[in-house]
Amino acid sequence: MSIPSLIGEAQTVLGTVSPDALGIILPHEHCMLDMSIWFAEPPTVTGKRVAREPLSLDNLWYVRYHPYSNIDNVQLLDENMAIQELMRYRLSGGCTVVDMTNVGLGRDPLALARISRATGLHIVMGAGYYVEESLPPGSNMNEDDIAREIVRDITEGVDGTGIRAGLIGEIGIKVWPLSEGEKTFLRAAALAQKETGGFINIHTGRSPNSPFEVIEFLDKAGADVSRVVMSHIDRTLFSHEDRVRLARTGCILEYDLFALEGWMPENIRMVYSEDEPTRRADLPNDAARVDHLIALIGDGFINQLLVSHDHNSKTRLCRYGGPGYAHLLNNVVPMMRRKGMSQEQIDVIMMENPKRLLTFV
Ligand SMILES: [Zn+2]
Repeated sequence: MSIPSLIGEAQTVLGTVSPDALGIILPHEHCMLDMSIWFAEPPTVTGKRVAREPLSLDNLWYVRYHPYSNIDNVQLLDENMAIQELMRYRLSGGCTVVDMTNVGLGRDPLALARISRATGLHIVMGAGYYVEESLPPGSNMNEDDIAREIVRDITEGVDGTGIRAGLIGEIGIKVWPLSEGEKTFLRAAALAQKETGGFINIHTGRSPNSPFEVIEFLDKAGADVSRVVMSHIDRTLFSHEDRVRLARTGCILEYDLFALEGWMPENIRMVYSEDEPTRRADLPNDAARVDHLIALIGDGFINQLLVSHDHNSKTRLCRYGGPGYAHLLNNVVPMMRRKGMSQEQIDVIMMENPKRLLTFV
């Protein structure tokens, strides 16, 4: 039931391209973004003041620790800044960026097209609703309605712009067990995948049980699990055994929080599990992420691994003292080599795997 004209092609905001032209790919980033749905009002008067300050050197460390408690930080609205930041990636050898910003996160197809032209990067745009709060208030859309919207975004384009999405995601799952609304989102994603031949990206819940529940649900809904990417593995599964168990389902494991080196916001990224909220687990740093990848490669899962930064706030950009989009290429790839990964293995993870997923089937 796939779309004949898309089979074998990747689809960027400027049209279809041969997958061989995609080069090095960042499979999970945000170029333009309004993440104010995650804004968390601080309880104290001082916190409320800082929440409304522009990001500056004076509050940079506070905001790094409380990234969702500063409104300026969770909005990437400046197209020119996006171009400058993304040029660093381009000049470091990058070629393609997947922009996961979909409905609820401020998706802006025309801006992405301009950024693509200005930077010369291939940019692939997401489709679907991020989390339940992204639905219009009072909406009673069912899975068929949502699937139809996703298919239209991929085949005709978004909001009359003619600019088409190149994947289904990121679909935001927040809780374990799944809510009814989340089940609707997942059934819609499975339907849209069957119709378009695109791949699905899941923003998984924080419980270590969440990715397993999502995969089982998608499988039953008829999705092609080998074309489902589970994002944020670094903050979700804290044992190699769990990661191997997930890989055995056939889905893709995405380490997409590279450059988060440990300055984690309390209560946001360190809760081990919704059902066990007092138990804490430390997020790995980049060196540990690479060790996890090497262990998974050793167990035969190299074709199921992706790496990215998921830059979703100003503190993550070079302009604000952050790592920027070239961090993986400039700092992590040399570390991968130093830790014993071959160039061939690095190419599989940074080029071949995302290329395979971005190619419609
Ligand atoms: Zn994301």
